[in-house]
Amino acid sequence: MDQDIPVAERLQPITKGKAESQRGGWAIPSAMILVGLVGVGAVWFLNRATEAPTATETEPTENLLGHLPYDEAPLSELEPVSADGQIKLRRAAAERFRAMVAAAQQEGVVLMPLSGFRSKQDQDYLFFEVKEQRAQRASERALVSAPPGYSEHHTGYAVDIGDGARPDSHLKETFEDTPAFRWLEKNAARFSFELSFPRNNPQGVSYEPWHWRFVGDRHSLQTFYKARQLTPRDQP
Ligand SMILES: [Zn+2]
Repeated sequence: MDQDIPVAERLQPITKGKAESQRGGWAIPSAMILVGLVGVGAVWFLNRATEAPTATETEPTENLLGHLPYDEAPLSELEPVSADGQIKLRRAAAERFRAMVAAAQQEGVVLMPLSGFRSKQDQDYLFFEVKEQRAQRASERALVSAPPGYSEHHTGYAVDIGDGARPDSHLKETFEDTPAFRWLEKNAARFSFELSFPRNNPQGVSYEPWHWRFVGDRHSLQTFYKARQLTPRDQP
């Protein structure tokens, strides 16, 4: 009898006498229910196991033309980082950015913020209007500009930086030949800023020496790394 119902036996370990009296009563039906539940669970598990790869392949929000989706920073979190107050970053990033500008200034280098937080509406213009003006295909445009909803600038952690003494190099690859870029390469990590799109980046986006992002607190780090499932080795 014990060998017939080992599972039910395990479920009623407390009072031996009670278990004895119930053995002929509902111990057998409850064992059958348990076997039934295990069966249902097994079917559910197998279904999930076979569905999982398909779900990953068809995930629509994961990546669009090489860009990843980002939420807009709440406006209440933003602080100005430019003299005219027009360019804003999320508080933690703004504080470190200002400290970085001051440190560069001491070495005679002028780091100039060119663009910070951008709403999805701002990005609508930058992507669709400019794409039409320049007669670019969506895939061509995506090499140099993220589609709305997919820009790191939505997060308030990304900033485009120029060299104040070299306005000709603003938002151009030639920025890498300026004192500002060389200073950033050497020092930005001390302020928790990193280059988002180095040459040959894994996202396949054009090299942008002027575009830096803040990864100096838990939220910013999660924003840029959590969803990607990259190993440290994958990172530039
Ligand atoms: Zn940028």
